[in-house]
Amino acid sequence: MQIDKLAIFRVCNPIKTPYTTAFGTANAFNSILVKLDNGKYEGWGEAAPMGFPGFSSETDVTAFHIGGKFLSQLIIGKDISSGNELQKIFMSVKGNSFAKGAFDMAWWDLNARMQKIPIKNAIGGTKEKVSAGYTLGVMQDIDSLLERIQVLMDSGYPRIKLKYCPGWDLDMVRSVRSAFPDLIMHIDCNSAYTLDDIDMFKKLDKYNLAMIEQPLMNDDLIDHAFLQKQIATPICLDESISSPTKARQAMQIKACRFINIKHGRVGGITNSLKIHNICQDSGVPCWIGAMCESALGVTFSMNLATLPNVKYPSDITPSAKFYERNLCKPIPDNPKPGLFIPSEEHGIGVVPDSEMLKKTTLDQFELLAN
Ligand SMILES: [Mg+2]
Repeated sequence: MQIDKLAIFRVCNPIKTPYTTAFGTANAFNSILVKLDNGKYEGWGEAAPMGFPGFSSETDVTAFHIGGKFLSQLIIGKDISSGNELQKIFMSVKGNSFAKGAFDMAWWDLNARMQKIPIKNAIGGTKEKVSAGYTLGVMQDIDSLLERIQVLMDSGYPRIKLKYCPGWDLDMVRSVRSAFPDLIMHIDCNSAYTLDDIDMFKKLDKYNLAMIEQPLMNDDLIDHAFLQKQIATPICLDESISSPTKARQAMQIKACRFINIKHGRVGGITNSLKIHNICQDSGVPCWIGAMCESALGVTFSMNLATLPNVKYPSDITPSAKFYERNLCKPIPDNPKPGLFIPSEEHGIGVVPDSEMLKKTTLDQFELLAN
């Protein structure tokens, strides 16, 4: 299909309460939205690399810049027949996976709308329902955390993920495990540690965590492989898996026993599918992670979670957790919290609310084919 027109929006949507992780505290979530138009249909994508380059080297500002100055120019007026073809065109631009990811998602949405099929069918999803856990950031004290977990358990969430960083670490896990002996839970270190902390990771083995997510540096595989040999708890890689190549290498050196796939981190849906298949062929299960996207990006995550090798509850953030008003119509967790049913609408099935888009847009770029 030919890309006749495209637009990029850099948006900032305030959140209800500050959200603290190993990267610091956020009061609003920034992302870029990409709209691709072939003259008859529109496809939308979103990437949320954060406003601060803590998760990766990208931010919403760099993604907007790279998208407008380079990626847009490479595809405008072109006839692009597959996600692989799009990724091939983008290969001349190194890195910048989030920026590429927003375009790639928009291509998949546009393609599915043209074919008049739901995105789940376009990507080969096999599940009718999707299971999602809940993530808790650093809280003011342990008692508040325990109270919150009890509420979430009572609501029916199948697992809890706890952000983990210096000062909110072993004592926190010990308290949670003591209060909830049977809780399925894991921790996410967001690259906050090094091999100097190996004794601390060994101590975590006795708390029966489902996994330890990204304990070491954001682009490392080798140290993770070393750590995995020293501890019984499975390692899950997030930040380190920035491409299908990195996933293949992680499998080769046994750097992890789970991979969390985030469409933005890996450059979109095309590469998410490749990583899913690499893991499946290696017998390593996946689950779908999340940045701080609006309901648009979250809906892509939910559809990725219908893939067959997704075998742990994913991070599909309920809209009410963060936003007073979402950029898109939020996905309901239905019939209960932690359970989602993908839409049968064509494409991704959601588009940004025009009033909210106008209200939250900080920068806008448009390009027309000659
Ligand atoms: Mg993570």
